[in-house]
Amino acid sequence: MMADITTEVLIVGTGPAGSGAAALLSSHGIGNMVINRYRWLANTPRAHITNQRTMEVLRDLGREVEDEAYMFATHQDLMGENIFCESLAGEEIGRMQAWGNHPLSRAEHVMSSPARMNDLPQTYLEPLLFKTACSRGTQARMSTEYLFHEQDGEGVTTTCRDRLTGRDVTIRSKYLIGADGGKSLVAEHAGLPFEGKMGVGGSMNIHFRADLSRHVAHRPSVLYWVMQPGADVGGIGMGLVRMVRPWNEWLIVWGYDINAPAPEVTPEFAVGVARQLIGDPDLEIELLSANTWTVNNYYATRLSNGRVYCIGDAIHRHPPSNGLGSNTSIQDAFNLAWKMALVLKGQAGEALLDSFDAERAPIAKQIVTRANRSIAETGPIFEALGMAEGVDPAQMQQNLQARSDGTPAAEAQRDAIRKAIAFKKYEFDAHGVEMNQRYRSGAVVTDGQMEPAFQLDAELHHQPTTWPGARLPHAWLYRHDDGGRVSTLDLCGRGRFALLTGLGGEPWVRAAAAVAGEMGIELASHVIGPRQEHVDHSGDWARLSEIGDDGCLLVRPDHHVAWRATGMAEAPQQELRRVLRQILAR
Ligand SMILES: Cc1cc2nc3c(=O)[nH]c(=O)nc-3n(C[C@H](O)[C@H](O)[C@H](O)COP(=O)(O)OP(=O)(O)OC[C@H]3O[C@@H](n4cnc5c(N)ncnc54)[C@H](O)[C@@H]3O)c2cc1C
Repeated sequence: MMADITTEVLIVGTGPAGSGAAALLSSHGIGNMVINRYRWLANTPRAHITNQRTMEVLRDLGREVEDEAYMFATHQDLMGENIFCESLAGEEIGRMQAWGNHPLSRAEHVMSSPARMNDLPQTYLEPLLFKTACSRGTQARMSTEYLFHEQDGEGVTTTCRDRLTGRDVTIRSKYLIGADGGKSLVAEHAGLPFEGKMGVGGSMNIHFRADLSRHVAHRPSVLYWVMQPGADVGGIGMGLVRMVRPWNEWLIVWGYDINAPAPEVTPEFAVGVARQLIGDPDLEIELLSANTWTVNNYYATRLSNGRVYCIGDAIHRHPPSNGLGSNTSIQDAFNLAWKMALVLKGQAGEALLDSFDAERAPIAKQIVTRANRSIAETGPIFEALGMAEGVDPAQMQQNLQARSDGTPAAEAQRDAIRKAIAFKKYEFDAHGVEMNQRYRSGAVVTDGQMEPAFQLDAELHHQPTTWPGARLPHAWLYRHDDGGRVSTLDLCGRGRFALLTGLGGEPWVRAAAAVAGEMGIELASHVIGPRQEHVDHSGDWARLSEIGDDGCLLVRPDHHVAWRATGMAEAPQQELRRVLRQILAR
């Protein structure tokens, strides 16, 4: 039977994962259709922390996409005092500079990437990705619900319900991408295996408008953590007042006991919780929405089945701690899109797609585990304040009072509180978690080179390396003709392979042109050095490249190093052919 609609790739879901995949596939010239069962995109702010690696993906989509994200985002400078308090109006218990706002951390951020972290609520990010996709060729069908799919050796036939007419529609595609979120039917129907548990904690979101400037503008932050009775039950570690827009739009996250029925979050209840956490019983607030959700600890151990690939929350379900949700979803799409594009263009064998599982399944496990551990790591703050058994208001006042005594016991307590709060950098300043992803798969050729060990804590600090599998280190280079600044990452990406070499590496450039021609692939070569197109005036690239001037780096379209040669090879053309054939499964 003929399907109603034919496309190369069908994507279920227009969230960060689905819209991201659609934008990337359209940018690579691949026909695709994206569907959403609702008539529009995210209607609540949801994910917001947008890390440097995600901004590099947006930059890869085009400077206009990156610039628009910054235009709508709250600047990094306003993100990070990260206050712990008894209420916004009440006593402050402590703070830790977060999200690259500590000067040492900021230095690491600035050195790591041409892009900067920011706070971009999902209500702004999703339309940007969706618009980019649609303007570049994506067919979007809203009010269209995925029902089931069947696949054969040639493609996938997906049956959807048009929710406007109630009729079923069949869509035939070469591949199906399940980006249908934390209750993914596509992942379920594809039979993906999962580990972990859904519903480990109960939580609610209360979204409202209120001008809270007088409580927060002098200590700008995305997150204000509130310790009050019930703050240790369910939820994400403590009561949270989260900035959506400075300083008049907010989202409160408050927990409930997952073993009891979910509470009915009536407007009166929601306003009551908000006033309680802000510490102002008369505060006028405009309630925008309120709903409950569960904290999950659940990840897929295989991400695909035949022609069906899942990305985003469909394969990793975790609390918002560390702000990894939409970031990881977009990065999944960045990993998958170029591979699917090359396979569909006939430039790579289908086995290239196996590397998606090999590379991203470990990341799914890592980030789900990290986000859940971050909730548990709030415990020492409660303990240091003498609240390990639960927050009792009278006891809390007594303990806060005791902490200002001049006794050795009070000093020990102050020390314990300081240390417990500082330890939260694993949640709020985990730059390594965001930037250190190193891939191992058939789409990376190490030639037996050993992985460099991490010199510092791999979760906290980014350690650049050109070891194959790692993301290409960023360094600023300068254009020879006009002195303009260009990141090494800007020389790569946009769906193409790139080769970076130095003076004496010209044989690599000739070999790359010959092999690219033979294989019918796009491969951009760049010689970096004095009087070349790009000059390393600062010496940063020489320090980071870990190869000789006559060596070369072969960089994949997703900025990860595919292979490197530390010096000139006897037969460069043969070497590049060998490596590219392996990576592209040809
Ligand atoms: C209520 C809520 C609050 C959240 N709060 C935060 C937060 O505070 N901080 C944070 O970091 N993260 C938060 N998250 C998580 C964050 O939003 C996700 O990590 C991120 O959106 C994942 O992106 P995704 O594209 O994989 O999935 P989603 O954004 O969930 O997108 C799934 C898409 O699939 C569509 N879809 C689902 N089923 C079907 C179907 N059968 N047919 C057609 N379309 C379908 C949906 O309509 C949607 O377009 C929250 C999520 C939710 C749901």
